[in-house]
Amino acid sequence: MQWETVIGLEIHVQLATQSKIFSGASTAYGAEPNTQACAVDLGLPGVLPVLNKEAVKMAAMFGFAVDATVAERSVFARKNYFYPDSPKGYQISQFELPIVEHGKLEIVLNNGECKTIGITRAHLEEDAGKSLHEEFPDSTGIDLNRCGTPLIEIVSEPDMRSAEEAVAYMKKIHSIVRYLGISDGNMQEGSFRCDANVSMRPKGQKEFGTRTETKNLNSFRFVERAINHEIERQIDVLEDGGEVVQETRLYDANKDETRSMRSKEEANDYRYFPDPDLLPVVINSEELEAIKKELPELPAAKNARFKQSYELNDYDAENLVMDKDTADYFENIVNVGNVKAKLAANWVLGELTAALNQHDIEIMNSPVSAKMMSELLIRIEDNTLSNKIAKEVFHAMWAGEGSVDEIIEAKGLKQITDSSEIEALVDQVIADNPEQVEQYKSGKDKVFGFFVGQVMKLSKGKANPQQVNELLKAKLQ
Ligand code: ADP
Ligand code: MG
Repeated sequence: MQWETVIGLEIHVQLATQSKIFSGASTAYGAEPNTQACAVDLGLPGVLPVLNKEAVKMAAMFGFAVDATVAERSVFARKNYFYPDSPKGYQISQFELPIVEHGKLEIVLNNGECKTIGITRAHLEEDAGKSLHEEFPDSTGIDLNRCGTPLIEIVSEPDMRSAEEAVAYMKKIHSIVRYLGISDGNMQEGSFRCDANVSMRPKGQKEFGTRTETKNLNSFRFVERAINHEIERQIDVLEDGGEVVQETRLYDANKDETRSMRSKEEANDYRYFPDPDLLPVVINSEELEAIKKELPELPAAKNARFKQSYELNDYDAENLVMDKDTADYFENIVNVGNVKAKLAANWVLGELTAALNQHDIEIMNSPVSAKMMSELLIRIEDNTLSNKIAKEVFHAMWAGEGSVDEIIEAKGLKQITDSSEIEALVDQVIADNPEQVEQYKSGKDKVFGFFVGQVMKLSKGKANPQQVNELLKAKLQ
């Protein structure tokens, strides 16, 4: 039996407002536990929530960025359930009338194929506090600082068919919220997290199978692993003649497995009703137009512009625009540093990205700034450095050994472009290897590479490779 996977994601994004969604308490991360939740966040008697206008604006910006309908009128509702980290006994969310509906997003897969994923809705809600299990062996600690932090929950259509598609979609949403500046997207701190709904159906069948929902995945890698794990588990169940149980599951990164948390039967009935403390959110069409006008250039538009004005290919453009800081870094090298676009793209996506990944550093904190990178690439363009030696200089700059020119000077790395100097090296290599000269002259073309290698070695990698090639060709005729 051939199985098809069906996936829908619910992504929670913390909005980057200064204060909470219904109170003036700070949203800053990392404060002492229970120092940043005020009476409103705790739901103490006699207080009333006041909506944060900035959070509404941010949600609307997201809506426009994904081609959705932004409602002129939306309504906050109470989602009732008890949990220790939510002292009010309910969460303020949106239910029947969310602020954003009917959006869509295009993803690009590894094979270059594009696919559109539907976004059912995105609603505003408040976050809950945190239960801390690890620090306290016999009990659970409660930190209520996060109570009332504004979130948008973005619900996708069940349009994805593999873990790869789900990760591509999640990365795209991450990229968009960062471009919009509506979230820091920090996954370690929980500002961007995802619940993955997964079901299987026989290939060709129209109806969906029963799904499970794996909660709170806070890295792209965990999403991929949790989904693939769930696919295998469900196929095993189905092929053994069993039935998948609709339930909520948890992913354990240490054990790399998902396990059941609660089944549908135990699931809560949230008894949603409109929050009587809050008026409906009304945004008039002029306000909506104003928000739309303020939107920054988004990844799709930037991608098109990069391909047009810098003549980049799909791969380079897509990867450069994925992260706004990376795109800015690239443009800085090209426009301020006057480096050729293709060379800049190769270095940003190659050596720089590799070093950033290896050291787990964000591009904005790169020890090699855009200015330093352009100085380096200019030295490739003016033939002072070969591409290979430039990599050595790059790593020296990364290690803080100085500017490009200082490093070239100190290490004696200047490329040899004086043709008489190179000619001398070529002559020496030819004289030292009569046997290979014979072979080459008798038609063994492959030996040519040997000569190039020897000359480069003799010059300690500093001879200009193009000149070496030309001189060798001339001399070996
Ligand atoms: P709930 O409110 O119980 O979480 P929803 O109907 O709002 O349920 O769906 C939540 C998410 O689950 C959505 O992203 C949706 O696309 C996805 N989903 C719904 N049915 C399936 C299914 N059979 N398989 C996979 N995902 C599904
Ligand atoms: Mg859900």
